Amino acid sequence: MINDKVYLCAINNIESGSCNEDCKFCTQSVRYKADISRYSRKSIETVIAEAKKAVSAGAVGYCLVSAGKGLSDTMTEYIAQTAFDLKKEFPSLHIIACNGTANKEQLKHLKDNGISSYNHNLETSREYYPNICTTHSWDDRYATCENVKSVGLALCTGGIFGMGETPYDRESLIKSILSLSPEASPLNFFIPNPALPLKKRNIDTITALDMISRIRKGLGKNAIVMVAGGRELIFEGKEKEMFEAGANSIVIGNYLTVSGNAPQSDLSLLQKLGYAPADICDA
Ligand code: SF4
Repeated sequence: MINDKVYLCAINNIESGSCNEDCKFCTQSVRYKADISRYSRKSIETVIAEAKKAVSAGAVGYCLVSAGKGLSDTMTEYIAQTAFDLKKEFPSLHIIACNGTANKEQLKHLKDNGISSYNHNLETSREYYPNICTTHSWDDRYATCENVKSVGLALCTGGIFGMGETPYDRESLIKSILSLSPEASPLNFFIPNPALPLKKRNIDTITALDMISRIRKGLGKNAIVMVAGGRELIFEGKEKEMFEAGANSIVIGNYLTVSGNAPQSDLSLLQKLGYAPADICDA
C-alpha cells in the first residue's frame, strides 16, 4: 500500500448477457446459458440514477461496461452521450468505458465526450489465450490497449488469474501488462459457475498476493492496482495482506453478474484497517 487512500470504483453493466463470443470464463456469453440476468441497454437516465448511488457510497471511478466483442458505432455514440451527461452531473467523477475491442476513432470520440480511461483486459497469457477464447485473438486485445494509449486515454488493463493457466502463463501475462505501462491494472480471480466450461479456480491466496505485489513492483507507486472480481472468494479475512501486497483499489457494489459486498461493509472494513477512501481518482 502506497498511502492510506483506497480508490473505490463502481461498475455499471449497461447491457448484459447477449455476447456471442466464447470466452470460457464469462457468464455473459450466450453459449453457456448461465443463470444470470440478461437485459438490453439501460436508459441514460437509469445509468445516471445508479451512478448517483455509487458516488454517494464513495465511488470515485465509474465504469460503463457492455457485453460483446467490441464497440459498434451505435454503442460508441451511447457511451459518449452517457459520459457527457454523467460529467455534467458529477464533474469530478472519473469515467471509464469497457466495451471490448475499439479503434482509435471510436476511442477519440469517447475521450472528447468525457471518458477518461478505457478498460480492456488481456485476460491471460498470449500463449494460453486460445484455451480460453477461440472467437477473437489476444493480439486484438493487445492492439486495443495500444489504441487506448495512442489517443491519450488512460489505460486500465489487467487479467484473470486461476483459469487453469501455469506459473509460466502468469509470468507472461504480467510481462505483457507491464509492457503497456497502464495507469490502472484490475486483477480478477476466476469465479466458477456451473454453466461455464471452466470448472475450477487454480490459484490460492498466497499466489494471488504474489501476483498483486509483482504488478505493484512493475508499475511503480503511482499506478492504481485494483483487486476486482473474486476478491471476496480469495481475500476474505486477508484484506490487510491484500493492501500490504500493493493493492490500492477495489470495486464497490456488484460486479458484472455477481453480487459484491454491500458498499457499507467495505467502507467499515477500510476504516477498521486504517484506510480512507480516496476523494478523487488520479489515474
Ligand atoms: S467478449 Fe466479453 S462479454 Fe463476450 S464472452 Fe468474452 S468476456 Fe464475455
